[in-house]
Amino acid sequence: MDNFIKIEDIPLDLVKIKADGMSHIFIRNLRLCSEQCEKRPCTYYCPTGVFYWDDDAMKIQITYSRCVECGACPYGCPHGNIDWRFPAGGYGVLYRYG
Ligand code: SF4
Ligand code: SF4
Repeated sequence: MDNFIKIEDIPLDLVKIKADGMSHIFIRNLRLCSEQCEKRPCTYYCPTGVFYWDDDAMKIQITYSRCVECGACPYGCPHGNIDWRFPAGGYGVLYRYG
């Protein structure tokens, strides 16, 4: 649990969580999505619609904050193109702005 930092000078003994530096979802090869994945199943097997095809950018986009950590990503992509990992620290995914 190295990611938990106890803040000693706060009377209520609060604990701050150190966020991972990398996202928990990563597409290994975006070109593969646009050129070799005709049906793009990630856009419909994800229960919360995290992945969608962007016609303007011509690539898969990821709405990270919609992820509910079901863990289906790596199994649903027929090309093994999605890297999904539990964040360090033993707690759920954290989101940050910017
Ligand atoms: S299913 Fe996999 S290869 Fe296909 S579009 Fe989604 S991430 Fe890309
Ligand atoms: S872990 Fe589940 S909810 Fe999160 S992006 Fe993958 S399929 Fe969607």
